[in-house]
Amino acid sequence: MSSYKTALDKANKLIRKKGKEISAARLLLLHFSCLLPTDLYLNYEKEMPEEVYNNFFEGLNLYLEDNIPVQQIMGYVYFYGYKFIVNNQVLIPRFETEELVVNVLMLYDEYFQSQKVDLVDVGTGSGCLAITLKKEEANNMTVTATDISANALDVAKDNAKNLGVEVEFLQGDMLKPLQGRRFDILVSNPPYIPKNEKVDNIIYDNEPHVALFGGQDGLRFYKEILENAKTILKPKSIIAFEHGYDKANELQEIASRYYPDAKIFTIKDMQKLDRMTFIVNEPK
Ligand code: GLN
Repeated sequence: MSSYKTALDKANKLIRKKGKEISAARLLLLHFSCLLPTDLYLNYEKEMPEEVYNNFFEGLNLYLEDNIPVQQIMGYVYFYGYKFIVNNQVLIPRFETEELVVNVLMLYDEYFQSQKVDLVDVGTGSGCLAITLKKEEANNMTVTATDISANALDVAKDNAKNLGVEVEFLQGDMLKPLQGRRFDILVSNPPYIPKNEKVDNIIYDNEPHVALFGGQDGLRFYKEILENAKTILKPKSIIAFEHGYDKANELQEIASRYYPDAKIFTIKDMQKLDRMTFIVNEPK
């Protein structure tokens, strides 16, 4: 049989041979062994139970041979420290989106100082933005989330339930299910990959295209949202977008057409790429 260390070394070798992500081995080993990282290292030289060994290499095989994302093999991902279920009906939450959460929370503090606000997440997918914001500001934010995909909303609803928060989920396209409502904060990480851009097979083959592609220029959904946002926002309001790294200028330009008096600014992500644009409306 094999120790954890021998299994991990073997897995790393297989991954390297395929030129895939080395971090996959450790994630899958932790998952299938049900060990915490510290316990894994304490048990490093110990014999692995056969069942764990077999499950681990079966899981690894799905990643290496079938090109299934590790997060879908495990069935969850940690986002902002919270465990979110994922499957092939939702975009896998990305690190950059955690940074959107941080910035929305900071802007909330700056502009709304612990006041009660209504927030909407448009195109919520797994629910990671809506649910995390509700977790972090449970007493101050009433959170609504929309998605066109009923299957995505099923996942988001399960996530809200597992994480013990109340979020209202509405099915429908962009702002359509929100007509007649008024929000203080709109957040959105809409599909933003330009239609003809090449994406890695592991993304293209496993994540829902409805969550990935944002029309010819990747800006389709920002335009749709900005065109109608005024109808669902209060006079004092914030719009927070995640977007493609090369879209800040165009997006700012579009936003300033609809919101000529707003404060509009872009923030870089940890990779130093323009990733988030904010539109702050304060009535004079
Ligand atoms: N950031 C994702 C990617 O590059 C795209 C997410 C989106 O379109 N909202 O795969």
